[in-house]
Amino acid sequence: MLPKKQRRTPGNRTVTHTKPKKTGYHECALCHGILHGTPRGTVVQIRKMKKSERRPTRPFGGQLCSKCTRKVMSFRAQLKGEIIKPEDVPISLRGYVNGV
Ligand SMILES: [Zn+2]
Repeated sequence: MLPKKQRRTPGNRTVTHTKPKKTGYHECALCHGILHGTPRGTVVQIRKMKKSERRPTRPFGGQLCSKCTRKVMSFRAQLKGEIIKPEDVPISLRGYVNGV
């Protein structure tokens, strides 16, 4: 339900004022924790913001939390250095580690 309020106008009419709904909290795609640095507001408010105000500008900013990003980057480095094999990466992380 949208927040509604009954208001009396100067012309003695009763009108209903409704406020637009805020977007939900943004969640990490892996651990479902709340993402920091992402705004919560109405769609119009968020679209008016600059791109840099909408999500952090690091890799996976606005998708993964910093802890999960660190995990993914660690596996990427280990794969590049051939310390581990691609099969050793957990299935949940493979989509992020193996790249686009
Ligand atoms: Zn996470």
